[in-house]
Amino acid sequence: MDEGNTSHEISRRDPAWKYCSLQDPNNTNPVTCKFCGKVTNRGIYRAKEHIVGGRKNVKGSTKCPKEVREETLAYMQKKRAKLFNLLEKMIEMIGEKNVIQVITDNASNYVLAGKYLMAKYPHLTWTLCVAHCMDLILEDIGKLPIVKRTIEIAIALTGYIYNQLGLLNLMRKFTSQRELIRPAKTRFATSYLTLQSIFKQKRNLREIFNSIEWSDSKWAKEAKGRRVAETTMMPSFWNNIVYILKVCSRLVCVLRLVDHENKLVMGYIYEVVDKAKEAIQKAIDGKREKISEFF
Ligand SMILES: [Zn+2]
Repeated sequence: MDEGNTSHEISRRDPAWKYCSLQDPNNTNPVTCKFCGKVTNRGIYRAKEHIVGGRKNVKGSTKCPKEVREETLAYMQKKRAKLFNLLEKMIEMIGEKNVIQVITDNASNYVLAGKYLMAKYPHLTWTLCVAHCMDLILEDIGKLPIVKRTIEIAIALTGYIYNQLGLLNLMRKFTSQRELIRPAKTRFATSYLTLQSIFKQKRNLREIFNSIEWSDSKWAKEAKGRRVAETTMMPSFWNNIVYILKVCSRLVCVLRLVDHENKLVMGYIYEVVDKAKEAIQKAIDGKREKISEFF
């Protein structure tokens, strides 16, 4: 039921698709407005907010015709009412007195429905799904240029090693059979694990590319191989990894915790998130310009 980037968005039933287009059919987050060319970044919902205008999340469209604005607004209101009715029906079904908390993800229409629910049932608490929030924060961090670039280099490094069987065997010899984690999906959480596993093998990786086995190999003569070898010798590459790991380690911990435990006390999560914030502040210690990149 995520309004962000799921099935019904891809099915294009939303009338706003008449006025918007995707740049990349496989990525439903950046949406281009056909009237003014503005690209919004959080799926069709944010694009609709742009069309309707007057929202704090996004600048309104100046070139959008009045009829389109009204049509889109009506559709959004209808959908929101439907969502609210659905949640309301569920609460009535369970019994108003038995429901004390409703947890939803943080797509804007859920946020609004949650607020309406709290107004209607004052004893009810509505909260965002922490796992979803943390996921989004990490995805955003993954989009920062320095982080994105470091991950790309790391993926090239592991990809190169794992694509040459001989080189892979050489690596296993140097790492005593320890493997590097290869990102399975384009999710930041797995990229994080890749960086972590590369960092653990920093010394061994450097030793491989300084070894006679390497310099005598055919890979050392390939441009791609030389580039990969150079990467492992670059202090900036390792410094960036350390920096990313420091900033994200606590957040990833929280994500894992909320993703896998189902009996968590809310107060405990607040404490963990607070600790994470403290740890991040300590990690970036004094580098104000860097912390502002993140928050
Ligand atoms: Zn526009």
